[in-house]
Amino acid sequence: MSTLWRVPFGDLQRSHQALQADLIAAAKRVIESGWYILGTEVTAFEQEFAATCGVAYCIGVASGADALYLALVAAGIGSGDEVITVANACMYDVAAIVQAGAQPVLVDVDPTTQNMDPTALAAAITPRTKAVIPVHLFGRLADMPAIMEIAERHGLIVIEDAAQAHGAWRLDDTGRLRQAGQWGHLAAFSFYPSKNLGALGDGGAVTTNHHEWADRLRRLRMYGWERKYYTTEPGGRNSRLDELQAALLRVKLPHLAAANAARRERAGWYTTALADLPIEVPSDEPGHVYHLFVITLPDHTTRDRLRNHLLAHGIGCDIHYPVPTHLQPAYADLGYRPGSLPITEDLAGRILSLPMYPELSYDEVMLVAETIRAGII
Ligand SMILES: *Cc1c(COP(=O)(O)O)cnc(C)c1O
Repeated sequence: MSTLWRVPFGDLQRSHQALQADLIAAAKRVIESGWYILGTEVTAFEQEFAATCGVAYCIGVASGADALYLALVAAGIGSGDEVITVANACMYDVAAIVQAGAQPVLVDVDPTTQNMDPTALAAAITPRTKAVIPVHLFGRLADMPAIMEIAERHGLIVIEDAAQAHGAWRLDDTGRLRQAGQWGHLAAFSFYPSKNLGALGDGGAVTTNHHEWADRLRRLRMYGWERKYYTTEPGGRNSRLDELQAALLRVKLPHLAAANAARRERAGWYTTALADLPIEVPSDEPGHVYHLFVITLPDHTTRDRLRNHLLAHGIGCDIHYPVPTHLQPAYADLGYRPGSLPITEDLAGRILSLPMYPELSYDEVMLVAETIRAGII
């Protein structure tokens, strides 16, 4: 498949090549241990990931989607509660809110960062609002200083969707560097293979500094068991990170910072190479880890034309995401319609994601940029 592309949109084979011997050794260790569910590898990874994020607890679960759902349940959010989130992050959050039995409330985003607009959040709060899920979209932290201030004023629980933001950070009002997971009460991470920290299969985690919620999450991921065959927690499910994925993640975790730095370097190459074109590139912030490199075109027609041009010339590209959550058939009954979230809708028609991964070469970035140049005029 990848031979069809001059520059593939993603290339996980490349990213695992340098680590292959270590990955195989880790897999062998697990295979030979004879222990595959909730053992020493998961415990060690949880400690290592919590330390990397600068939080007290990490609970490994089966996926990022489950991490969001379990975080909501652990925090006691359910029927009758409203949870505010955004509509430009591919439905994961709304699906989790609905599964928890709560009511999703969608707000618009900031046109520059494409993250939750704090003013829109404040305006959407009602007496039933219990929680807010800001998404750190594309690897950039949401405006957490403003969001935390609003949440604290209204007593809301904040669950960060950090699935695209492992290692991303920004400064708080006191000038302290705070990473994804260090702002809200809980954070949900995904280790889907293409994420900044990816397993070789599915995986996810919830992080928190809250001791009781951490305990509750450990029960919820394991049928609700307090101990073997004894439950105090109704409604638990099976959502465990497995030993094999944990062992593979332990190989990759020490390389996360360098991989994020490499993404940032490539973002800089794109930004310079595209500077004179009528294209908006992501505004840079030092803590942005560029899970995706998303450009914004002047209008919908130009975006679609450029997308087709790139694909026709062997340059992988994609749209994250083409149809906002509130316009998805599954969520028609939430009561939104075209025009409800004008900035989200406008951006969905004009954005385009370019290849972005740590192993992308300088020549490849230049080839993408030159192909864009030829296609946009
Ligand atoms: C990938 C992703 C998820 C879901 O993670 P899975 O591990 O695929 O279930 C949730 N939220 C965001 C923003 C994501 O990018």
